[in-house]
Amino acid sequence: MERQRQKYMNLTSKKALAATRIARTLREHSHSAYLVGGCVRDLLLGREPGDYDIATSATPREVIRIFPQTYAVGAQFGVVLVPVRRDTPEGERDNYAIEVATFRSDGAYSDGRHPDEVQFSKDARLDVQRRDFTINGLLLDPDNAQVLDYVGGREDLQQGLIRAIGEPHQRFAEDKLRMLRAVRFAARFGYAIDGQTFAAIRELAPQIHQVSRERVRDEILKMLTEGRARRAFELLDQTNLLEQVLPEIKKMQGVEQPPQYHPEGDVWIHTLMLLEGLPAGCSKTLALGALLHDVGKPPTFRVAPDRIRFDQHAEVGTKMAEEICHRFRLSNDDTGQVLSLVANHMRFGDVARMKASTLKRFFRLPKFEEHLDLHRLDCMSSHRDLSLYEFAKEKFHILPAEQIRPVPLVTGADLIRAGYQPGPKFKEWLTAVEDAQLEGAITSKEEALALVQQKASELD
Ligand code: ATP
Ligand code: MG
Repeated sequence: MERQRQKYMNLTSKKALAATRIARTLREHSHSAYLVGGCVRDLLLGREPGDYDIATSATPREVIRIFPQTYAVGAQFGVVLVPVRRDTPEGERDNYAIEVATFRSDGAYSDGRHPDEVQFSKDARLDVQRRDFTINGLLLDPDNAQVLDYVGGREDLQQGLIRAIGEPHQRFAEDKLRMLRAVRFAARFGYAIDGQTFAAIRELAPQIHQVSRERVRDEILKMLTEGRARRAFELLDQTNLLEQVLPEIKKMQGVEQPPQYHPEGDVWIHTLMLLEGLPAGCSKTLALGALLHDVGKPPTFRVAPDRIRFDQHAEVGTKMAEEICHRFRLSNDDTGQVLSLVANHMRFGDVARMKASTLKRFFRLPKFEEHLDLHRLDCMSSHRDLSLYEFAKEKFHILPAEQIRPVPLVTGADLIRAGYQPGPKFKEWLTAVEDAQLEGAITSKEEALALVQQKASELD
């Protein structure tokens, strides 16, 4: 019977078994211990949990005594990480940690981010009251695979509802990040946000700035890369959070576009359609590129005699994207790639007309596949004509790397050896040689030097 229940709850994965073992060990030492939170929710939904959390009556000190290899990252909040390190029969080595948190109730949150103090308790009922949403407040007894529900979480899972535990206004006032978490879970599971919970978020949205930008960024990036980005951004908008965290995106609403290129509607609708096309697990840089590629359109909107135009929107948008990446404390590498995606997104319009040398240099952009992916999303979210995408993709894949970035026929050192005085003209000549090489016009060092000689004589 127990086996059957476990199978139904699918507690058979390696991590689930490790978590269950830790909970049982705590119980053998006469503490109470349950699996709790997101992992129970995911098990009930038949999803594989990302990580497993345990809640226990044991104090951090007692947990550490039972599991001596433990590291106490957040012991003052009652959180201890129990490492799992084992050699698997397949010859691999498991190496991760299960979070074990002492039952607690949280004191006041005067900063809107952290509790001023936490009170440990022996009562699991108290512990779930401090958690954010009913679907995240379920406990699972590892001995009989029974779910303990003190918050109405099972019903909300069935109804598909994100509902704050307790009084929503108070719970969001305590920790403003919960507002973004509500949107993220609603989008991820395709759930609605309960009316009172929703109203409380709308009211408190302007206070989201009390949360650190890194934490806001991490929530937004999860929303963008979990496969339900459109829904997440619609909810961000409806909850008033969008104008707080990304006012530049909010401004896309109502910005009309020329219907012959954009039959889908305004810049906001177009951007939402790109977000809809982002697959689960996509890179954060592609996701941000999709979100921001047209961010320069609202400030460059202009009704020209022939049609609506957005002159220089890629350049203006690149500057705005830089500001946004900086605000979100994105790494330099990621920022560079996002800016490159925004800055270059209009160049696909020219690919069929580009000289071979220009096209090959275009292909040299780092992670060019992401530029292709973005262009595809851009087309599919407007005119749906993929001919330029197919053209660029095919060229990119058939051209061997040594043709995109061939070994130079001559270097500056070669020019010096050939008797030229080093100077600012060198760069120009070497670029001309590389152009000719990329065009296929020259293929040897002799031809390259002849070309330089010709360029140098033009000078006189
Ligand atoms: P995910 O699948 O994204 O990991 P999760 O529900 O497991 O979702 P975690 O951030 O891993 O979320 O947190 C684990 C649990 O801790 C949650 O299920 C919830 O019970 C509780 N929790 C996390 N963050 C908060 C918060 N800001 N306020 C209250 N409870 C929280
Ligand atoms: Mg989790």
